[in-house]
Amino acid sequence: MPAKKSSKTSRRAVAVRGSAIHGRGVFAARDIAKGERIIEYKGTLITEAAADERYGDDESNHTFLFLLDNDMVIDANRGGNSARWINHSCRPNCEPMEEGNRLYIDAIRNIKAGEELSYEYNLVIEDRYTPAIKRLYACRCGTSQCQGTFLAARR
Ligand SMILES: [Zn+2]
Repeated sequence: MPAKKSSKTSRRAVAVRGSAIHGRGVFAARDIAKGERIIEYKGTLITEAAADERYGDDESNHTFLFLLDNDMVIDANRGGNSARWINHSCRPNCEPMEEGNRLYIDAIRNIKAGEELSYEYNLVIEDRYTPAIKRLYACRCGTSQCQGTFLAARR
């Protein structure tokens, strides 16, 4: 039997462009349904120790590193895709879903074409949360739930 192309051609769901929140952002290129798997967060899988060694105190790269629950890190500085441009929001419309060493961005509500995609970074850093650090990680999502930062609350 000849190979048959799937009739379900899914239209590209996202587009990267300038964002009002921060730098570049990722936007819905079509309507996206709640629960839909939008995009895989790609990058090079490295250990946390390797990430520390490679990036150390260079804070500018930290938002392209995603720490998985199993303590492995997806380094989207290398081999990353559009997903690395998704901004943080304190009232997000997406959430990251881990499956082993892979990470996917899923919609947690219906998203209209043109809306910016976002998820909660819950970033944890070892430094003290000084005013300078807070400025570095300041959130400008502009939602009523804005915490002013995308650092996770101290546990
Ligand atoms: Zn915010």
